[in-house]
Amino acid sequence: MIARTLFQEEHDMWRNSVRRFVETEIVPFHAQWEQDGIVPRELWRKAGEQGLLCCTVPEAYGGLGLDYLFDVVVFEELWRVGASGPGFLIHTDLVATYILSFGTEEQKTFWLPKMVKGEAIGSLGMTEPHAGSDLKAVRTQAVREGDEFVINGQKVFISNGQLCDLVVLATKTDSAAGAKGVTLFLVESSREGFKRGRNLEKLGMRAQDTSELFFDNVRIPATNILGEEGRGFPQMMTKLPQERLAQAIRSATVIEAVIEWTADYTAERRAFGKTISDFQNTQFVLADLKARSVMARVFTDKCIDLFMKGELDPVDAAIAKMVTSELHCEAVDKCLQLFGGWGYMWEYPIARAYADARVVKIAGGSIEIMKTIIARELFSHRMR
Ligand SMILES: Cc1cc2nc3c(=O)[nH]c(=O)nc-3n(C[C@H](O)[C@H](O)[C@H](O)COP(=O)(O)OP(=O)(O)OC[C@H]3O[C@@H](n4cnc5c(N)ncnc54)[C@H](O)[C@@H]3O)c2cc1C
Repeated sequence: MIARTLFQEEHDMWRNSVRRFVETEIVPFHAQWEQDGIVPRELWRKAGEQGLLCCTVPEAYGGLGLDYLFDVVVFEELWRVGASGPGFLIHTDLVATYILSFGTEEQKTFWLPKMVKGEAIGSLGMTEPHAGSDLKAVRTQAVREGDEFVINGQKVFISNGQLCDLVVLATKTDSAAGAKGVTLFLVESSREGFKRGRNLEKLGMRAQDTSELFFDNVRIPATNILGEEGRGFPQMMTKLPQERLAQAIRSATVIEAVIEWTADYTAERRAFGKTISDFQNTQFVLADLKARSVMARVFTDKCIDLFMKGELDPVDAAIAKMVTSELHCEAVDKCLQLFGGWGYMWEYPIARAYADARVVKIAGGSIEIMKTIIARELFSHRMR
């Protein structure tokens, strides 16, 4: 079996410590959080104290200045046990890196130390009821009035939406300019006119809060622009490969985990005088998934390596997300089948993994959008 070569000894030590944190501070409480539809703020503070949030943030902004693999370890250790509640990925991998890449010195100094400590929770506000895949169609408006902007509009499906202190918000500052009219803002949840809507009831990921957000004449200073006015769309585009890579890491990890759970279960469970794993069908199903999971992992690790060198292109990121997401959904379905009726019971992690999985073909760029990106590359030089 091809061994993973990305990680060094310090990452392995980090993994042990993250695993301990996940097993003591998250696993025993996750079922309750699923019922609550949210994780407690206290968890974020504890995770911050242990250094689990925003590992790559430089020391100058209160972080540890570690490499991306330290963040990867945190994500993998959460996904490995099906801990889909804590929205650390959005906070660390998206919001913090948006601020690091596009923020002013003041914005970085103000927000990043709080985010590292878990005192401020970040969310990414892009999707609207009428605009998801087609982000340039967002309608939330930011209108300049002197040194301020007044924001009106609505977002939906926002992860960490109930908990967030800060939203990286996609708006239109020029509604006639299409993609060139998109501007990103840092909007504090404490602003007058900011309202949280429903914590949406989801098929899976039930411990993670996913919300509507409303902006009713929210007044913010022009200094809250993240990056440049009218440059929000290209800014978002540069971050998408990283978001897709994170989704691929999630899928590669879950696929491996569910294969292991299923191999363990079927080696114990008996029918017709044999274990379920004695049936050739079981062996073939798991062997097929295992073979493809190794391919998925090797490709995903290659993408991590390219990303860390600044060389991950959008097409490879789309390939990683598309292939791993599809395999993820197939794996949870086939593995659940091998658990029989118990696989359908919420008390079994495979049932939760099945419900959690479905979103990976939708969020962070749907399968169809990934195909569009790959096809564009395939046909661009052939078009007349
Ligand atoms: C649990 C969850 C968490 C989320 N978290 C966040 C978050 O934190 N922040 C945020 O901003 N958003 C978030 N989203 C939103 C997510 O990114 C969008 O749902 C996704 O981008 C798809 O947009 P849509 O739902 O509007 O679907 P639509 O864009 O309406 O698409 C509907 C269908 O049409 C297909 N389609 C669309 N365009 C094309 C095309 N050109 N060619 C072929 N098919 C196409 C799509 O693939 C899809 O199958 C989250 C969603 C979920 C479910």
